[in-house]
This record gives sequence, C-alpha cells and structure tokens, in this order.
Amino acid sequence: MTDCLACRIHRGELRVPGGVLYDDGLWRVEHAVEPTPMLGWLVAKPLRHVECLDELTPGEAERMGPVLRRMAAALRASGVLPVRPEKVYAVLFAEAAHAPHMHFHLIPRTAADPPERRGPHVFERMREAAANPESAPSPAALQALAARIRAFLQSAASL
Ligand SMILES: [Zn+2]
Repeated sequence: MTDCLACRIHRGELRVPGGVLYDDGLWRVEHAVEPTPMLGWLVAKPLRHVECLDELTPGEAERMGPVLRRMAAALRASGVLPVRPEKVYAVLFAEAAHAPHMHFHLIPRTAADPPERRGPHVFERMREAAANPESAPSPAALQALAARIRAFLQSAASL
C-alpha cells in the first residue's frame, strides 16, 4: 500500500526519531512518529504490509511474541528509562486511515501515571502531543534513549 505510514517509514521516506531500534527482517521496532508522545512509546510492526493478525505468516507470528517480550524487557531494564515502568502496554488497533498496517503500540506505564492516564486513556497523550508538540520529548532525548535500548538488546540480559 503506497501511502501506508508504516510502509513509508520502512521505505525510508519518513524518519522516526532515534532510528531503528530492532529489525530482524520480519519485524521492526521504532519510536512512535513525531511528535512522539513520551519517552519509550514504541511501535512494533511486521515489515511486510499486513493489516490483521491472521494475515501474518507462521514465521512472522512465531517472531511476534519474542519481539514484544524483548522490547518490554528493554523498557523495564534498569537505567533505560528515567523511571522504570510498572507495566508495558501492548496495544493493536491499526484504525487510522493512513496507518492500516498492523502495529503494536508499546507504552510504558509508571507508578506515577494517574488513573486518568491509564489503560486506553493513555492515548490522550498522543492527542496532547499532536496539539502541543513542544511538550513531546526532544530528538536528543529520543536518540539517547534509543542508544540505551539498542545497548540493552545487544546484551545477554535481553535474550
Ligand atoms: Zn503498510
């Protein structure tokens, strides 16, 4: 699909702050596109244009669980985020007209996040960042976090 946001990113037509965090040839993980709502808001998606879980090949499906687990481990590893999340949400909707490509939002949720920002309400952060882009993390902060995530993924602790 030529105008699919994920496919455009995979073709290099759009850059995501911090660059590619993980790519195994089937799945890729990056920060959410700008304005990235918060540090650690990641997006995991198959490289191939797939719109629903049942369209994954057996190989893509087998890789999905380990990818999600490793990225959650990266976000919860000591020193990766300023505050270690209590949970990492994994949310798949792919409902936006420009982004039908299936993608999991991986979203850290800390103890400090108030009830009105938990569960599905966390997507308020995406709306707020779009309305107020200067509230989003800086490119430098996202690049620094990306380097910590890549370092964790290269360590034995991530396996
Ligand atoms: Zn696509």
